[in-house]
Amino acid sequence: QAKSAGRNTMRFFDPALQAIASAFIAFELDLRHGLERQEFELHYQVQVNSVGAVTGVEALLRWRRGGTEMVPPVQFIPIAEANGLILPLGQWVLETACAQLVAWSQDPQRAHWTMAVNVSALQFAQIDFVEHVGQALQKTGAKPTQLKLELTESMLVDDIEGVVAKMKAIKGYGVAFSLDDFGTGYSSLSILKRLPLQQLKIDQSFVRDILVDPNDAVIARTIVALAHNLDLRVIAEGVESAEQRDFLAAIGCDAFQGYFFGRPVPAADLN
Ligand code: C2E
Ligand code: MG
Ligand code: MG
Ligand code: MG
Repeated sequence: QAKSAGRNTMRFFDPALQAIASAFIAFELDLRHGLERQEFELHYQVQVNSVGAVTGVEALLRWRRGGTEMVPPVQFIPIAEANGLILPLGQWVLETACAQLVAWSQDPQRAHWTMAVNVSALQFAQIDFVEHVGQALQKTGAKPTQLKLELTESMLVDDIEGVVAKMKAIKGYGVAFSLDDFGTGYSSLSILKRLPLQQLKIDQSFVRDILVDPNDAVIARTIVALAHNLDLRVIAEGVESAEQRDFLAAIGCDAFQGYFFGRPVPAADLN
């Protein structure tokens, strides 16, 4: 059957597999076009301090595929990483987030807010990433001290010298670093000590059951102690209830983020 389709026709024998392959190719094409068609947007989720004041936001990328269907980042970021689209997309995120900081600088209630931006491994690994960050700041006029880049442990495993040098150069602009999803990766304490970080972010997987699972409570306490001993601040992500917030505050957590304080929303919907 496949043979009768001719020498130059590629066919899958399994129609189900063929359907999956076609859907994937369509998805990837749509993703590539999404940037030109301006289908990406940033939503912002507030971060609050120990007295409940909003100190800033985290920018979270959203894709409105075809202008309608909302695709969550877990579904498209790994693909954008695999095909390199994360590079222009990541730069768009940086510039858009910086432009938002500048827009807020006119609003006394928001002028001092910090902006946390997620950086992908491929993006950080670019040899000219330092310059890219500098360009985003320069192009928009955003204050570097209000920008915070979120890295993950997975990007700190090899060429630690190079990672530290890059972070120091970016820190030289005044930009801060937070280590996202902390506790889920493999960073060693000796590496952690050498990184010019400002903040550790307790992963939401430890926060979720913190009131019922003693192991999660112990892990959270340990992260807070570790951070404070290294002179870093700690933020907890995924805080969904007042009880979780109170527990985290009691063990010394410095800042909080999660649905309890607010979901990620477009800038216009923040209040
Ligand atoms: P992340 O940086 O760890 O972001 C936190 C995720 O938890 C977000 O999911 C956020 O919407 C969600 N979240 C916040 N509060 C709560 C809560 O109280 N409960 C629960 N269950 N979830 C909460 P989101 O927006 O789907 O993003 C998922 C991941 O995608 C992010 O995890 C980040 O790794 C990645 N991502 C998002 N935006 C970007 C981006 O601009 N660039 C890159 N490279 N990655 C991004
Ligand atoms: Mg993050
Ligand atoms: Mg996180
Ligand atoms: Mg996370």
